[in-house]
Amino acid sequence: MDPKQQHTLKNAINCSGVGLHSGIKVAMCLRPAPANSGIVFHRTDIRQSALAAPEDTVANAAADVRADWDTVSDTVMSTTVQNAAGVKVSTIEHLMAALAGCGIDNVRVELDGPEVPIMDGSSAPFVFLIECAGLAPQQARRRWIRVLRRVEIEDGKRRAALVPSDGFSVSLEIDFDSPAIAEKSGFYDLHNGGFKRDICRARTFGFEHDVNRLMDLGLGQGGSLDNVVVVGRDNEILNEGGLRYGDEFVRHKVLDCVGDFYLAGGPMLAHFAGQCTGHSSNNQLLRKLFSDPLNWEYSYERALPTSSPIEVWSQPLITSDSTADNTADSASEDAETVIAATA
Ligand SMILES: [Zn+2]
Repeated sequence: MDPKQQHTLKNAINCSGVGLHSGIKVAMCLRPAPANSGIVFHRTDIRQSALAAPEDTVANAAADVRADWDTVSDTVMSTTVQNAAGVKVSTIEHLMAALAGCGIDNVRVELDGPEVPIMDGSSAPFVFLIECAGLAPQQARRRWIRVLRRVEIEDGKRRAALVPSDGFSVSLEIDFDSPAIAEKSGFYDLHNGGFKRDICRARTFGFEHDVNRLMDLGLGQGGSLDNVVVVGRDNEILNEGGLRYGDEFVRHKVLDCVGDFYLAGGPMLAHFAGQCTGHSSNNQLLRKLFSDPLNWEYSYERALPTSSPIEVWSQPLITSDSTADNTADSASEDAETVIAATA
């Protein structure tokens, strides 16, 4: 495939599954879309409930939700986008990551419910769907979002920065007080198949001790050991077969970053560095990036990126002292879901 051209799907393709947080069963169809249309969700159930005819373009537009940094309306435990009519689609990040990783610029995502199916908790099933549908090149040039200067946010121990780069790479430090999470940092270059090779199979995760709290919040209703890695009360992995990677937790957080930063409106030429970050800080950082036109530009060219880690901070933010103080806070925001099964 020519990386300078935009791509959509060659064919439409369907799947169905349960929404992680809503517990609602949802059917999804990925359809080819015109050049320069981007990623657009469409709630088929909204159109039906409004009793609108298929040719009623006003009613149809009300059911469209653009996937963009400025349509993000909620970042608690997942990323939700919303249109002006208040129509929402939640838990979009794992699908967005697969679209980014496969080089899909334009697609229409039809859903008959409010949440993207969680599938196995990773992006791998979506990558499989996209590859089955095939990629089709389009008569339009791909447009990268090039970060021109460092943009940073800091909130307590959370710290995140985007710095200029010729590719997209992520370095993360996570901070969970659990012996089950041995690897707490990683650098991943998403260029040249890195997403599919290293990241896409990493599943979402949660802690057994958070079950009741999240259930009370109405979250994690569709969670099970089939779609969440669960760390038990004795720090054991409850899922049969254990982890897919030794550092699956870090890799999944990288996967979330790939999905969240694809909301920039195109592939980014930037290095992202995060410490104790999540969906909320990812969106805050994009909002800060786009708040000043001197921070970024559109680019139709890219140089071959280097694959070496980029030094972003001269001082580590996470120290052994700060870990103990902030663990509970970190786990409450970053753990993505829980399960009810404890047997
Ligand atoms: Zn995730």
